[in-house]
This record gives sequence, C-alpha cells and structure tokens, in this order.
Amino acid sequence: MTHWQPLDCHAHSTCSDGVLAPDEVCATAAGHGARGTVSDHVSRDVRFAVKSSDAFDAYTALIAHLPYRSAEFCSHDSLWRELSPEQLGRLTHRIGSLHAVPMDDGTLVRMFQRELPPGLTRDAYMARHLLAIETLADTMPIEIFAHPTLVPYELRELPAEELWREEDEVRLVAALKRNGICFEISNRYRAHLRLVQRAIDSGVRMSLGSDGHVLEQIGNLAWPLEIARSLGLGDDALYDPAVHGTRLG
Ligand SMILES: [Zn+2]
Ligand SMILES: [Zn+2]
Repeated sequence: MTHWQPLDCHAHSTCSDGVLAPDEVCATAAGHGARGTVSDHVSRDVRFAVKSSDAFDAYTALIAHLPYRSAEFCSHDSLWRELSPEQLGRLTHRIGSLHAVPMDDGTLVRMFQRELPPGLTRDAYMARHLLAIETLADTMPIEIFAHPTLVPYELRELPAEELWREEDEVRLVAALKRNGICFEISNRYRAHLRLVQRAIDSGVRMSLGSDGHVLEQIGNLAWPLEIARSLGLGDDALYDPAVHGTRLG
C-alpha cells in the first residue's frame, strides 16, 4: 500500500513568476513529501504570466505530461473567459483569485497596492470585496478559490477576526458552497482559524496550496496540513481532482 501524500494544488513555475521549471516544481514538491501541481498565472494583468490564448496552448503543451496541471486566473481579467471548454479541460483543476476589486466608478483596488485610495473607508472597501468574492464564485469555472483572505496591504495589519465580520465570513463560505468550490488553505496567505472552521462546518471542501514560487516554498504544506488535521479533517477529505472530480464533470 502506498503512503498518502498531500497534494499541493497551487504552485508557480517559470511559465509565470516562479523560478523553477515545471518539472523542477514537481520534483521540489516531492522533496517535501508532497505531490506537486504547476498552476501558473494565466492573466493579462500579472506581469509574468501566460497572457493569451496561444500562450495558453503553449503552456498546456509544456505541462501536458505532468499529473497535476492547473492555472491561476484573476477574476478581474478577461482571459479566462476567452478560453474554450476544451482548453480549460486540459487542466486537472482550475484556480480563481481575487487580485483586484472593482469599485463603483470602475477603478480597481489591487491586493498588492500599498494603500487604499484616499477617502475609501475600510467598511466601504470590504463591502466591495465581499461582492467581488461572490461574483468570482458565481461566475468563474474554477474548483479552488485561492488565498481566500488576501486583502490589500493596508488591511493586513488589522486582526483578521476584526476585519472579517462574521456575516462576511458567512457570505464567503455560502458563495463557495453553492458553487462547489474549494477553500484553499494557503501556506502563503494564512487564513484565520474561525473562517477555516466555518468553511469546514458548512461542508466546503478544503484544498492545500503552498502558492510557492521558490525552492523552499513549493510543496511546503506543513502548516496547511496541521490546520486541516487540527480541525478534524481526514487526509482523504482534502481536495484531489483525481479523487473528488471537477466541476467540468
Ligand atoms: Zn494569487
Ligand atoms: Zn499563486
């Protein structure tokens, strides 16, 4: 009988902003005792990324021999909408990310910008953030919502249990649940336990993600795995598209 190994559903290679070639990503994950996935950015709004349908074809050809193949799509970018079902089906699973949130006036607030725009309060921002999560979950053809608690820098300084009102958490979890999307326990952007517990209690499936870009990060799932186990999840319950299927059927 073979020993169960955690699946790192989310890591980056030189096909986007990672530093290791796709095969090295998998070898590195194996070195950490995990099974690896190559899940590069497919978005026109990430600097180093797969940025067109043709580039997506080249990307999927390059990783076709790997057991786990994915892509991380930005909700606010249109490239994922331009890919055909056949193209999306070359991936074993698909990841959606909220890297920017649209405001009423059409501008974007990005997760990696230093400060919120002047005059935008935390509450007003979070109201838009929650709407954007619901839109992402209700529209994107994905199995995994990456780093569910990623927010702009300025808001990361606040205690998460305070920034996220319980009613916000209920909405986030409900949006994932009604669409059959997994909650990623990210080693890179660590969610607070109250929210992870709420997602588990609601029957949302958990996935593990290093979101690794470099050697030390890829396949490093010690914290996500510890959290999953401490909250009572069996290893078999953790998302594996080969076991649990996908939304493409
Ligand atoms: Zn991301
Ligand atoms: Zn990522």
